[in-house]
Amino acid sequence: MKIAIVGAGLTGLSAAIALKEYANVVVFEKDDVGGLASSYCREYCIEKFYHHCFRGDNALLEMIKKLGLSSKLVWKVARIGYAVGGKVYPLNTPFEILRYPHMSFMDKAKLALFTIRSKRRDYTKADSVSVVDGIRQELGDRLLEKFFMPLLKAKFGESYPEVSYAWLLARVSIRSNRKYSGEELGYLRHGFHQLIERMREDIEIMSKAARIEKNAGWVVNGERFDAVIYTAPLPELDEKIRKAAGVQDVKYQSSVCALIGAKKSITEDIYWTNVDRGIFGAIIEHTHFMPFEDYGEHVIYLASYSSPSGWLFNAKSDELRKLYLKDVARFGLEEKDINWIEIFRAKYSGPIYEKGYLNKITPYRTALKGLYIAGMTSKPNYPERSMNGSIKAGMEVAEVVKADLEV
Ligand SMILES: Cc1cc2nc3c(=O)[nH]c(=O)nc-3n(C[C@H](O)[C@H](O)[C@H](O)COP(=O)(O)OP(=O)(O)OC[C@H]3O[C@@H](n4cnc5c(N)ncnc54)[C@H](O)[C@@H]3O)c2cc1C
Repeated sequence: MKIAIVGAGLTGLSAAIALKEYANVVVFEKDDVGGLASSYCREYCIEKFYHHCFRGDNALLEMIKKLGLSSKLVWKVARIGYAVGGKVYPLNTPFEILRYPHMSFMDKAKLALFTIRSKRRDYTKADSVSVVDGIRQELGDRLLEKFFMPLLKAKFGESYPEVSYAWLLARVSIRSNRKYSGEELGYLRHGFHQLIERMREDIEIMSKAARIEKNAGWVVNGERFDAVIYTAPLPELDEKIRKAAGVQDVKYQSSVCALIGAKKSITEDIYWTNVDRGIFGAIIEHTHFMPFEDYGEHVIYLASYSSPSGWLFNAKSDELRKLYLKDVARFGLEEKDINWIEIFRAKYSGPIYEKGYLNKITPYRTALKGLYIAGMTSKPNYPERSMNGSIKAGMEVAEVVKADLEV
């Protein structure tokens, strides 16, 4: 039995791990193994895009354990903040939240109640309501404009008006596990590249873009297979095959991240700062989460989202470097403080959870016998695509393939 897997991201690798003892598995990868979770290595390795995990990430934590990396897993309360007009306000403890000057006491109380209630709500009912309308009706214009709008723009770029209210409710409900001092996040000390390296061991990976053809059976790059598991972004699947497979189109967003090695930090101790305006929507200070000594310099991400056709995603790296440097200077980090800066981008970095998205979630089986799809648009990746969701999707699609092929 021969199975082709397209894409060596976390979905493809976990499907390969689950299937390798039952079939001859070949994984095709056109770029870096690890996909969106791959790393950039210099004296140390660091994810191209910021990554952390959560206590409830069962599939990811199980994979870490199975591959002997549990001793590397560390948990820490990561401090968060909100930058308004270039000034950063910490927003972790009830005291810090009460002291925050850009929101009335009433609005803070409304927000707290909304967070508590979201845990018990059936979010599916809000799938046809836009996030903007939902927030306006439930929380009012002021919270929408002053609090949610900058966060939505930072998360979805110009596509935010299309996002469903169901997404927000689901997202708040899975993320309202805060302790008194903030939310505890996990990280694999010295980097998630260690997980990718262990996952890829004993897996045959062809460093080539896969070209899938369907005739009597399935052919990938000229080689015949009994089944194909496609884990790459849907828009990159051949249109004829996509249509015949009955796969619904999903809109994606792109990510652009400036990764910086710096001589000084931006905030005193905050890991994640949302930013109200400017070219980046968040500052993520990795060395306020992991020890500075592991890197010997401050490691900072400036994160932006764009549409795949947006100017930000398509701008030249030199132009972006200049723009990010200019904007981060507002926070006191000047060019002389910066050792190096790299721009990373991903064209299809996650689905836009638009209105009606719940009906668009991609099933593992397609209308074409022998073609399976898993990845960021699979069920375990709602309401947030994640390493955990992709590992789960990879394992679940493997079970479906095993059942169909009776292996
Ligand atoms: C900015 C950012 C921050 C994130 N932060 C977190 C976080 O903190 N915590 C968390 O849990 N998750 C985070 N994620 C999400 C996480 O990285 C992804 O959900 C997960 O890695 C996706 O894995 P995947 O295998 O489903 O998809 P991908 O990683 O996209 O893998 C698909 C692979 O297919 C390859 N491919 C495409 N076309 C072809 C072809 N024709 N032939 C061969 N190969 C092909 C691609 O190169 C890619 O390697 C973040 C993502 C981004 C972009």
